[in-house]
Amino acid sequence: VSPDDSLVHALRRTAAEVPDRTFLAYFDGRLSHREADELSDSVAGYLVTRGLERGDRVAVLLQNSPLFVLAVLGAWKAGAVVVPVNPMYKSGEVTHVLRDGGVTALICSDRAWESYLRETAADSPVRIVLTGCELDFQTRGDARVLAFERLPQAPDAEDLTAVARYGHQAPGPDGRDPRPGDIALISYTSGTSGAPKGATNTHANIMYNAERQRTGLPLPEAPVYFAMAPLFHITGMVCQLGASLNSAGTLVLAYRFEPGAVLDAFTEHRPHYTVGPSTAFMALAAHPDCTPDHFSSFRHISSGGAPLPPALVEKFRAGFGPYIRNGYGLTECTAPCASVPPALEAPVDPASGTLAVGVPGPDTVVRIVDDRGAEVPFGEQGEILVRGPQVVPGYWRLPEATAETFPGGELRTGDIGFMDAEGWLYVVDRKKDMINAAGFKVWPREVEDVLYTHPAVREAAVVGVPDGYRGETVKAYISLRPGAEGDPDALAAYCKERLAAYKYPRQVEILADLPKTATGKILRRELRTRSGDSQ
Ligand code: ATP
Repeated sequence: VSPDDSLVHALRRTAAEVPDRTFLAYFDGRLSHREADELSDSVAGYLVTRGLERGDRVAVLLQNSPLFVLAVLGAWKAGAVVVPVNPMYKSGEVTHVLRDGGVTALICSDRAWESYLRETAADSPVRIVLTGCELDFQTRGDARVLAFERLPQAPDAEDLTAVARYGHQAPGPDGRDPRPGDIALISYTSGTSGAPKGATNTHANIMYNAERQRTGLPLPEAPVYFAMAPLFHITGMVCQLGASLNSAGTLVLAYRFEPGAVLDAFTEHRPHYTVGPSTAFMALAAHPDCTPDHFSSFRHISSGGAPLPPALVEKFRAGFGPYIRNGYGLTECTAPCASVPPALEAPVDPASGTLAVGVPGPDTVVRIVDDRGAEVPFGEQGEILVRGPQVVPGYWRLPEATAETFPGGELRTGDIGFMDAEGWLYVVDRKKDMINAAGFKVWPREVEDVLYTHPAVREAAVVGVPDGYRGETVKAYISLRPGAEGDPDALAAYCKERLAAYKYPRQVEILADLPKTATGKILRRELRTRSGDSQ
């Protein structure tokens, strides 16, 4: 078990033990463990002075930048629950999260505040706003600029300049430090019911998986992690930020995933470890400048969140790069619950050609059950259930959804898989309607809800259809109201305006009627098969 019971304590420890070691590297700038500790103290001191109470929710809407890390650690030091928000979200998506989470403080970039968040937040419980410039660090190379830049263009937001007034003061002795069972994050994930639900990851959930990442990887002393996955997503938060801090290492940040910039950062920082969806590694390997040299410093890389093609693992193993370890998890189990142990390589199931996702961790119990909930024998498919220290206690303020998804504390993943006699877990299909487009999760109901607000739409059904690069892509089937005009491009554009870019339907097909059951339920499966046939 980790010597620390939260990442706040991990940072206090590293700031004392390795104060001058680089914690965050961002383009030309660097921030040491001590500096990150002091600056996050300032953020915490400021939030407390502004009246933030223990357990209050702080939304953080930022790309991968040092500001993100200071905001999250500062909010935790103030005793707050962090609500990470995807910066790709459009106004309506952000509004739901701010209201549902009862968010009272928002930390975001000055650009996002100016362009849409001031208006969005006006309709929410938010009363404390901190803004900062994520990219100043790149141009000026000094973290203090990031924290203390004056932002005259956002006079009604409290800029981070104000934080400087409180100096490096931790919130004080009033017991703000997180306790293991406290909720650390409300991670919003969508679902069959449409509106996103908040999974409540505790500090203990995070520390368990951060520690598993540290001890499960043979990394050198002072390891260098590269943040390929976004930190606002649970995988980035736990396997990159959590694991690098927990192992007193360095975390290299690159704002957004852009293959050329990522390869340059590999050359400059010589990282030992990174994690991302398989498509990110395919994109890097396909870049014209990419050579095996770019990967020569890596000891391991992990792929998670989407199926990993055995051919990609082979390409890397055949000399292109390090072994790619598969890993399987969900937001509801705080990122991984099964992964490939360091000394082993994942087998491929000869019947399906599927690569194993890994073996469950030592304290984790995975069961495969049939529709009646009875366990099935090895090799037989069923729904994957997970019980373990990384499984969240439930969804934020949703007792019914919690009881349904976590009966008796066991997570029903909605994924279909099987276990072989040696204990390897394979994921082969999904019971749930979720679409997995290159690791980006899209729930049909959310897209359909937007389509139904369009005046020409009578019926809408959204499905995932096969796609050579993304694995799956989003497709909408529509029927129109009598006499209404509708054209596929305009309907796609309508969704694009209202949803994060990865969610809108890349394909829209208009049908006279959508296939339905006798009771009038739209037959999504039939539409999916229809798309498969037409490929
Ligand atoms: P991970 O923790 O593995 O990165 P995630 O963080 O992407 O997963 P979610 O966004 O909640 O978590 O998505 C979880 C879903 O992603 C799973 O229910 C499953 O359908 C899919 N998934 C995750 N890992 C794998 C994998 N290795 N192979 C196939 N599908 C996967």
